[in-house]
Order: sequence, then structure tokens, then C-alpha cells
Amino acid sequence: MGGSRRKFVAGNWKMNLNLTEGAALARALAQQVGRLDDVTVGICPPFVYLKAVADAVRGSRIVVGAQNMCTESKGAFTGEISGQMLLDVGCTHVILGHSERRHVYGEPDGLINDKVLKALADGLKPILCVGEKIEERKAGRTNVVVGRQIMAGLAGVAGEQMAAVTIAYEPVWAIGTGLNATSEQAQEVHAAIRALLARLYDGAVADALVIQYGGSVKADNAAELMGMPDVDGALVGGASLKAEAFVPIVQAGRTAGGCCGA
Ligand code: PEP
Repeated sequence: MGGSRRKFVAGNWKMNLNLTEGAALARALAQQVGRLDDVTVGICPPFVYLKAVADAVRGSRIVVGAQNMCTESKGAFTGEISGQMLLDVGCTHVILGHSERRHVYGEPDGLINDKVLKALADGLKPILCVGEKIEERKAGRTNVVVGRQIMAGLAGVAGEQMAAVTIAYEPVWAIGTGLNATSEQAQEVHAAIRALLARLYDGAVADALVIQYGGSVKADNAAELMGMPDVDGALVGGASLKAEAFVPIVQAGRTAGGCCGA
């Protein structure tokens, strides 16, 4: 099952780097991993650096994603950025429902669902993030919480649209803490997510779904995590800010990955 999906390794720069550093990092990645065709590489910089990054990787296979978007197309929404604007500056992907959006900015499941639907309608590929807090894991509620986030986040998404969707399982307690889920913990949740998708859609949709793991992925744990059958890549925060830290993770996705997925 796991061997037929090409791994997707994406860097979430969050609110880091400046324009010069971001463009230089994007150029370095284009040079070092931009021609690989056995792994998908993504860069998700802050909004204001999207165009510079898209320009820097043009001609390579690297895809560019935003870290958020608005549910509206245009108008009086001060401070917001529309899906069309993201397309306009070269984005193909957008991270939605990241734990920092959920827990720092209070984005509820319903809003995240609206964003997923709008991204798909606009022709963007959403990376829907889900994950439990440490107290939820300790209470044995991981699959309940993640299942609720997925069902709510994907409400109204048709089976045919699922080819454009990536799910990122990111346990909140592992993000930016240096404390990654073990490969067994990640596999267990990823398998549960895939089983849920088979119930919500069908086996073909579930089989084709790319499920990234995120949470303190580093060069030294990436191969083991992405070696699990249902772990189809990584969403990487801190370790995506330097080429020398991110490139080995991409390479690990390559060696752990299959040859010919979507
Ligand atoms: C993230 O930003 O989505 C993330 C997983 O961060 P980190 O890799 O730093 O834990």
C-alpha cells in the first residue's frame, strides 16, 4: 500500500527568515532537490515572500504553498489574502488548519472546512493539518480528536476532489518541541486516518491519499518515520529553515518512498 504513493516533503517556514534569506534558501533547494521526480518537495513561506520564492524555484519541480488563506474571494476583508491572490503569485498549495491557526488564533473546524472548500473551488491543493493535544493523547482520545477534525475539515468535499487534498498529521505536543511521535505512534494514527477515509469515501480514495507526518521531523528521524507504510511524507517546521537540515529529510523521503505515485 505505502509503496505506491510518492512522498511529499514540505517545509513550513512559519514566520521566519527575511526576504534575502528566503530567496537564497529557495534557490539552494531548487539547485539541490529541484529536479527530483521520485519525491514531491514543497516550500511554504510567509505570504509576503511567496512571489520571491515562486520566482526562485521556477523551472524546478518544487511546489509552493501558503500557510493560510481567506474564505472570501475579494472585498472588505482587511488583512486577508484570497485563494486567487495565492494562485496569482505562483502557489499551488495551501496549509489549512495548522495547530497554530487552531490553538493560537482560535480557528474552529467550521472555518477550516470553509477554507478547504474555497481552496478546492479556487484550484488550490489544501494540506489539511490535524492533531491532538498532549492531554487528549493521555486521555486515549487521539483518534476521536483527529477523526473529528478530519470529518469536519472535509465536510462537503467530494471523492473526486480528494486527489487534490493532503492531510498532515501533526500532534500538537510534537510541533516545535523536539519531541517527535515515534514511528509506531505515527503509523497507528496514519492507519486510522486512512481507514476513516475508506469509510467516508472508498478504498481507492483512501489508498491514494497522501498523509504527511509533522512534528519535530529532523534528518535523524525522517527515514524511520517515512519508512512506515502509511507515512507518506513530512511537514517540516524548524528543520526546513536551512538547506543543510531540509535536504537530508527530502532525501530520506526519496529513499523511503515509492516510485510512481501522484
Ligand atoms: C510545523 O510547523 O508544522 C512543524 C511540524 O514544526 P516542527 O517541524 O518545527 O515541529
